[in-house]
Amino acid sequence: MRTRISNGTIVTPAGRFQADVVCQDGLIAALAEPGRGGPADEVIDASGKLVFPGFIDPHVHSRDPGLTEKEDFAHSTRAAAAGGITTICEMPNAVPPVTDVHVLRDRAAQHSEVASVDFGLWALSLGPENLDQVPRLIEAGAVGVKLFWGYALHRTTRQLVYNLADEPPERLILPPTNGEVFQLFAAVARAGGLLAAHCEDRGVIEACQRSLGHDLERYDDLLAARPDVAEAAAIATGAEFARATGCRFHVVHISSARGVEIVRRSQRAGISISAETCPQYLTLTDEDYDRIGPMMKVYPPVRRAADREGIWQGLLDGTITSVGSDHAPHTVEEKRRSLAAQPAGCIGVETLAPVMLDAMLRGRISAERLAWVCSEGTARLYRLYPRKGAILPGSDADLTIVDPAAEWQIDNARLHSKHNLSPWHGRRGRGRPVLGVLRGRVIMRDGEPVGEPSGRPVRPAEARPADA
Ligand SMILES: [Zn+2]
Repeated sequence: MRTRISNGTIVTPAGRFQADVVCQDGLIAALAEPGRGGPADEVIDASGKLVFPGFIDPHVHSRDPGLTEKEDFAHSTRAAAAGGITTICEMPNAVPPVTDVHVLRDRAAQHSEVASVDFGLWALSLGPENLDQVPRLIEAGAVGVKLFWGYALHRTTRQLVYNLADEPPERLILPPTNGEVFQLFAAVARAGGLLAAHCEDRGVIEACQRSLGHDLERYDDLLAARPDVAEAAAIATGAEFARATGCRFHVVHISSARGVEIVRRSQRAGISISAETCPQYLTLTDEDYDRIGPMMKVYPPVRRAADREGIWQGLLDGTITSVGSDHAPHTVEEKRRSLAAQPAGCIGVETLAPVMLDAMLRGRISAERLAWVCSEGTARLYRLYPRKGAILPGSDADLTIVDPAAEWQIDNARLHSKHNLSPWHGRRGRGRPVLGVLRGRVIMRDGEPVGEPSGRPVRPAEARPADA
């Protein structure tokens, strides 16, 4: 099967140019002068369109198995495909979580049956409880090891426990101490892996909650209970552990200007530290709470306009490598509760690309930088490059084709997740993925997934196209 994507503008972090992309047997076979790609079984006219390397969302919680009343892998990956994503990395905190290689392999097999996009799998650290499994998980192909730093886990379900007072202590796997986290950094470093952490210092949060003295009522209460210093302190500690061990350390969903500043400073000092942010931190602030309401509750919280600006600066100057959605669905019923009572997290895998493309067309970010943070930079971070994240001969033929003139309005009723309450509901913008190509096959047309689910697992650094 030979497919030619004709007359589009190719966008890579290095620049834009007119070319035809010739795909054969799932790979990119060649780039050719416009109109000169030779005969093909299928020709897709991309005149007036931008052809990006397939977008990657490295931060998706599909809740599958175990919490499928909230979401499942079939729905989340259809939503991903609909939104122009061709690869996701699936977070490990389903039930059971990915804490050993048996679960990792089962999960890959299970998800392969329903996946609409390609996927990598995260592994979960339980601190000392599964420290011996960490090198095996990395060797078996986990894209990274995730530490929900400061969170306890339920001993039998191994679900994250947000409030330690909710459970008797004997039912909890307590959060690892900093000494135990330091050992984890050393273990991941020895295995050559990537350690990613949710960075909010639990001690700081507990102290701030205590001084708040009451339940969350207003949005300012949430910001007072989970201040930026909690994020900054955890990142600074992680940076020192990374410096001491040589571990590659990744800060997921960075939410504060202070946090960005510490990552930047640490990178300048030569520490192996990287960061991700999410569309919610780039487009929303506390001022949106009056309009959106408690359902915009996420951890870490969406903060103030100055934080949003600091994060944009970090995204543009290279401090932040990657944008992920932190797609973290809950049921509509759960997300309609009060600010205090509802769980943190919102859907986002389907709106990630449109929201970022709109920012591009408003001049906030260049197309080249977008190609980095939504594709190549992410692929390199997880060592999926150049199989993913590249429009090069030999790479997987994963493409996200964007109509920069298309106008959209996000509508909960038309999203593809199981529960659709988007904080961007009603938002209008410009620029939307209109065609998704996964390994040479069209998987999305005009925002609707097409064809049978054909996603496959991917793993780090088997990545060279030559041995695909
Ligand atoms: Zn997350």
